[in-house]
Amino acid sequence: MNNIECDVLVLGGGPGGYAAAIRSGRLGLNTILVEADECGGTCLNRGCIPSKALIHAGLKFRDLQTMATGPGVLGLSLSSKPSLDVGHLMDWKNGIVKQLNGGVNALLKNANVTVIKGWGRFIDGKTLMVDTTNGEQAVVAKNVILATGSVVSEIPSLPFGLSVMSSADALNVKEIPKRLIVVGAGYIGIELGVAFHNLGSKVTFVEAGGRILPGFDKEMTAPVERWLRNEKIEILTDAKARSVKPGKKQTSLDVVTDKNDVQTMYAEKILVTVGRQANTKNWGLENMAVDMDGAFIKVDKQLRTSMNRVWAIGDVTGEPMLAHKATAQGERAAEIIAGHKREFNPLVIPAVCFSEPELVAVGLSPDDAKAKNIDIISAKFPLDANGRALTQSYDKGRGFIRVTARKSDHVIIGVHGVGVHISELSGAFVTAIEMAARLEDVADIIHAHPTLGEAFPEAAAAALGQPLHMMT
Ligand code: FAD
Ligand code: NAD
Repeated sequence: MNNIECDVLVLGGGPGGYAAAIRSGRLGLNTILVEADECGGTCLNRGCIPSKALIHAGLKFRDLQTMATGPGVLGLSLSSKPSLDVGHLMDWKNGIVKQLNGGVNALLKNANVTVIKGWGRFIDGKTLMVDTTNGEQAVVAKNVILATGSVVSEIPSLPFGLSVMSSADALNVKEIPKRLIVVGAGYIGIELGVAFHNLGSKVTFVEAGGRILPGFDKEMTAPVERWLRNEKIEILTDAKARSVKPGKKQTSLDVVTDKNDVQTMYAEKILVTVGRQANTKNWGLENMAVDMDGAFIKVDKQLRTSMNRVWAIGDVTGEPMLAHKATAQGERAAEIIAGHKREFNPLVIPAVCFSEPELVAVGLSPDDAKAKNIDIISAKFPLDANGRALTQSYDKGRGFIRVTARKSDHVIIGVHGVGVHISELSGAFVTAIEMAARLEDVADIIHAHPTLGEAFPEAAAAALGQPLHMMT
């Protein structure tokens, strides 16, 4: 096959790579995207979207189950137990993924991006050999964007297969396991563990650290831990999974605790969610002169690697490994290649965990600020005092919004929230910080009643010592 030449070659079609390709194509650059799988990457095909579909189904199923045990506080009851058709649930979830895959492909086409399907391998800094179904295709580019993402981390003594599942396996189960052990209570473990609990599994968490969700501060994770304990979900902290032994019906898992005790646990399935690693293998990175930052590709504020006209974006460039960060980097990289004066330099990147209740972290927590020797004022507004929170949850408001601001000028440097549906407020929190809002600005903004959003100005007002719906 003849070589194909282009202005911009993007390797990897995840939320980073496809966004870069669309932007690049729309800016008039002759763009090629190489993707081995479906466009949309980890996030769309086996991450963010399918997991949120299962989480949503789990919440609905749990509500129905509550109604089947008699009229709860909502006065709703069901005369028989609800049933779950796992095949139907997977079809619905796969349908959403397919619809979004179609949307991404249509956008790439609309931006005049050529998509080449196949595994790519660089033989030098600007030449990629793609293993397509019609043979090997060479692509020679003026500019390269590396967007190869991340891959799941495996515990060598707990290899994936049979009863040990990765997150991708868990999103495609044929039946809901009666007993499930989740190894690693970080983002994925908690989100999927809670979803499986709500769908009917008896779940146990095994977490190496001292508490669940170590990426979020203790005050935020306390309501999640309370919810898990109320649901009688077992949480083993300071405990590491050591080895598995498959049995006929149940698999046994040996767990070592911090006191060096070995505890043997049994389950039908074990879900291992102990992190993700940059995808830097088997695509010829060693044939490029690209500096690394530990396990990740090193980039500067313009997302340039150490190699001339080679950029890198998304999970392969390091933490936080989040889809929205990858997308923003993709857009910036394309604009910079097109000659625009841009850089990737956000003040904050929001982090959301779709747990029960949900968590949102934007910017510095009070402890982060203290560690940086920043003098702060900070206050929390409890969602128990927010009408909308109470009307959408029968377990009380269960959460809060916490605002942290610099003492000197009241500029907001952190907003953290815990609560049912609180993820939807993450945009408001980021906007306030990116626009350098002060406590007074947010406290004075009129929010519609009754909405969760009202708790944000209340928290800002509380930090000023003037909350309305809180005792002073
Ligand atoms: P990826 O999405 O990993 O895409 C990389 C793409 O490159 C892949 O499609 C891969 O096939 C392709 N590729 C790699 N090498 C080659 C090659 N040599 N040739 C051809 N193609 C190649 N993030 C959030 O922000 N919110 C969430 O709710 C969320 N939930 C998640 C849930 C789960 C279960 C998981 C696993 C992840 C979740 N994430 C979430 C993280 C999110 O999926 C990633 O941060 C995001 O997908 C990173 O985007 P990316 O473009 O850098 O890489
Ligand atoms: P994570 O880093 O969030 O959590 C991994 C957990 O496993 C940690 O708590 C760690 O202490 C624990 N652990 C490590 N080794 C262990 C062992 N041997 N035994 C027991 N526990 C062990 O990683 P993850 O949950 O796999 O998620 C990977 C990444 O995907 C996240 O960092 C995040 O960037 C992204 N993600 C984001 C979202 C979201 O935005 N809502 C959702 C899912 C995933």
